[in-house]
Amino acid sequence: MMNLQSLKNQQTFALDVFARRLIEADSAEKLCTSWQEAHLAGETTIILGGGSNTLFTEDFAGTVILNRIMGYQITEDRDNWRLHIGAGENWHQLVSYTIEDDMPGLENLALIPGCVGAAPIQNIGAYGVEFERFCQYVDIVELFSGDIMRVTDCQFGYRDSIFKHQHHVKYAVIAVGITLPKQWRPVVKYGDLKQLDPTQVTPKQIFDMVCTIRQQKLPNPNITGNAGSFFKNPVVDKIIANNILTRFPNAPVYHQADGRIKFAAGWLIERCGLKGYQIGGAAVHVNQALILINKYQAKPLDIVRLAAYVRAQVFKMFAIMLEPEVCFVVANGEKSAAEVLDRIIV
Ligand code: NAP
Repeated sequence: MMNLQSLKNQQTFALDVFARRLIEADSAEKLCTSWQEAHLAGETTIILGGGSNTLFTEDFAGTVILNRIMGYQITEDRDNWRLHIGAGENWHQLVSYTIEDDMPGLENLALIPGCVGAAPIQNIGAYGVEFERFCQYVDIVELFSGDIMRVTDCQFGYRDSIFKHQHHVKYAVIAVGITLPKQWRPVVKYGDLKQLDPTQVTPKQIFDMVCTIRQQKLPNPNITGNAGSFFKNPVVDKIIANNILTRFPNAPVYHQADGRIKFAAGWLIERCGLKGYQIGGAAVHVNQALILINKYQAKPLDIVRLAAYVRAQVFKMFAIMLEPEVCFVVANGEKSAAEVLDRIIV
């Protein structure tokens, strides 16, 4: 019988789940051959970077390929720094490196767990800055043919991109092109960063402040398993928003360019009284209700049941159905989170 491979260290929820096979790929060729071999053998496959946005709801009955394509290439022209970064590089290490080497811009995105290759897929964002602001291109490989394509129209949205749609199944991100303008402009309009004076502040001060805020508020995945924000912030039309605001006039809301209104999912969950709420070994984080944690030896089903419960409670109180930000992976591959959660009786 084949030895199963532990995925405990391959996903930040640190769940005790297994895969039939685990392969590290340090080049586009290795990614493609591993993927093709698994498919020829009739096995389902999934490609992981840091596993920081993934929930395995059970053991995976196929091959997990770890994208470990490394490398930094940095050039400059008169106005910009241009970075070509391997998809398997660690995101936070890249941010730290650019700040230390006087190439500012990414400071608001410090301490986001995961790999560089995930940044465009998810269009990672924090403290008023999203990845798309600096993305020049994304190199992807078509796994069947090995053909490499450079994508410049990434169709970025809120935690969304073309890499979750047309270029999702059968493609992998292999490198990312980032442009950092030499004329640096601080972004300090968000939360605690507002204390900083935009005319005086340095990139390192913003970087340090973001790191401090995150360390105080968010659970460190190296200590407490979690996958960051579990749900997306819901954006709703005015009728639904007004209904909530009549009952909760102090609800924090953010008006969107299209006239719709964004609510903070963490606030909705907190108002349901769910901070610290626990099912099995899974819990709602006490500092930030948007984060579900592996508090103590959580089983995948604990997290799934907790997510379903949170969604149901928020729906009951606000008539908003939260959409998970985390990707759900079942035994035979990725599955819509809603489909998994809708089957749970709470
Ligand atoms: P927070 O400051 O407590 O704010 C709660 C929510 O309100 C955030 O999700 C944010 O939406 C929204 N918000 C706050 N100020 C805003 C503004 N000036 N304009 C528009 N929206 C605003 O959030 P937090 O949990 O401490 O997180 C801070 C930042 O880190 C946020 O940008 C958050 O997205 C990011 N973060 C992301 C993850 C992840 O896994 N994706 C995990 C932790 C933190 P936005 O999320 O749209 O910014």
